[in-house]
Amino acid sequence: MRNNNRLKVYLNGKLVDKSEAKVSVFDHGLLYGDGVFEGIRSYEGLVFKLKEHLDRFFESAKTLMLKIPLSREELTEAIVLTLKTNRLKDAYIRLVTTRGEGDLGLDPRKCDRPTIIIITDRIVLYPRKLYREGLEIITVPTQRNIPAAVDPQIKSLNYLNNILAKIEAVNAGKEEAIMLNHAGYVAECTGDNIFIAKGGELLTPPTYVGALRGITRMAVIAIARREKIPIREEVITRHNVFNAEESFLTGTAAEVIPVVKVDGRMIGKGKPGPLTLRIMREFHKLTRTDGVRYRL
Ligand code: PMP
Repeated sequence: MRNNNRLKVYLNGKLVDKSEAKVSVFDHGLLYGDGVFEGIRSYEGLVFKLKEHLDRFFESAKTLMLKIPLSREELTEAIVLTLKTNRLKDAYIRLVTTRGEGDLGLDPRKCDRPTIIIITDRIVLYPRKLYREGLEIITVPTQRNIPAAVDPQIKSLNYLNNILAKIEAVNAGKEEAIMLNHAGYVAECTGDNIFIAKGGELLTPPTYVGALRGITRMAVIAIARREKIPIREEVITRHNVFNAEESFLTGTAAEVIPVVKVDGRMIGKGKPGPLTLRIMREFHKLTRTDGVRYRL
């Protein structure tokens, strides 16, 4: 993200300078990671898949019994207002709601008012080269949370599971890493979902294995169905990944990015394959058409 001190941040109904955008040390988002968030993109004045992001946001909050004090319409207005104020046509949008200020105990009932934050800024992508040549990733030892503990479908502020995995990836000199679930099946990556291609068919792990229901993932599934590319949600192992013909990752920030090597095994021919390139092209088109428009 650029270091823009004139950036305005939406904080509890007000647009404040970045330097003034502060929350209490008693905020349970800070003390306990008690809160939910969304990472959203805008492309040329279009907030991509905003409805789907808001659906997931309200679902995460429901599970946490965190009442979002704004309606969908009010959140949409607040997001658009923040983008316009910062004169951003292409942006990364971080919507955050924390439990708010409480005491030092866990009890959420002591927190009267959730904190609402909207940060909008330019996005830093993976280097272009990686989209042309593909990523090399590894599998890390830290397993994805089990759904009966903290369900990976909740997009909560408690990201320690993914951060531990990210540290392991970074220590190994890699940008992203596969996380397995407790049973050893491929779940997802630290901040992206994973797909493989084999025999002309796309496969991605079902969310019950322990993955976030990624908005980009759902968009790719819809594109594949429309393009008549066979696609299935299927439990997969590392063996399946190693022997795939193609692989790619999906995420709001990463979009669709090819994977060409996993744990030292070359995937397919070691370069982005035809299905991956087709999905990348179609996804790029979709980002120009599917969302909520605004004008600066
Ligand atoms: N998995 C995890 C753990 C993530 O944090 C993200 C990014 N938010 C994704 C997958 C991809 O989801 P989306 O396409 O909705 O950004």
